[in-house]
Amino acid sequence: MDFLIATHNMKKRAELQRILSPLGVNVLTADEAGIVLTDVEETGTTFEENAFLKADSGCRESGMPCIADDSGLSVDALGGEPGVYSARYAGEHGNDDKNNRKLLEKLRDVPPEKRTASFVSAVCCVFPDGRHFTVRGECHGVIGYEKRGEGGFGYDPLFYVGDRSFAEFSPEEKDSVSHRGNALRKLAKELPEYLK
Ligand code: IMP
Repeated sequence: MDFLIATHNMKKRAELQRILSPLGVNVLTADEAGIVLTDVEETGTTFEENAFLKADSGCRESGMPCIADDSGLSVDALGGEPGVYSARYAGEHGNDDKNNRKLLEKLRDVPPEKRTASFVSAVCCVFPDGRHFTVRGECHGVIGYEKRGEGGFGYDPLFYVGDRSFAEFSPEEKDSVSHRGNALRKLAKELPEYLK
């Protein structure tokens, strides 16, 4: 069965395909499906709301079942910031370098034991008949004092699990513990109910 995925991120596409292949699910980006999706404004105040907005819009515009995710970083000492604003924390959408510098600055005087944080991923699946469900995955770690590692993206170089930052994990290692990996594994568990 073909599913549209509301992302242009080929890394997310590969991750979804890897986890959903055993269920007989084939994922297609909008480009691959030959359609142009409206850019959805992420007006929700939770990851779940934004994931639903994107999946619902993709489903309505394509007539296909659609999967969308929304993710971000939640830092305990900052009351959950940057949260749903993770991609645009420093004002400019997707500027990882500025976002990381702002985060380090905000945590400048916060001691190691108070630098706990979680990556969160909500993944929503919407079907043309209106059925939908959302799963949530989390991954807990701490924010370091400096960037380390060359891999990953976003806040990975500052997010430490054990004594390594996520940017020092291989993609497979990261998938096995990450928020998105955990959400997608839940999705793979729930989806068969909807394919009957
Ligand atoms: P989006 O859900 O793809 O829009 O991601 C929102 C933002 O959250 C990204 O721009 C990153 O700043 C951050 N983010 C989400 N997942 C990750 C991750 O696995 N590593 C690092 N940053 C992430």
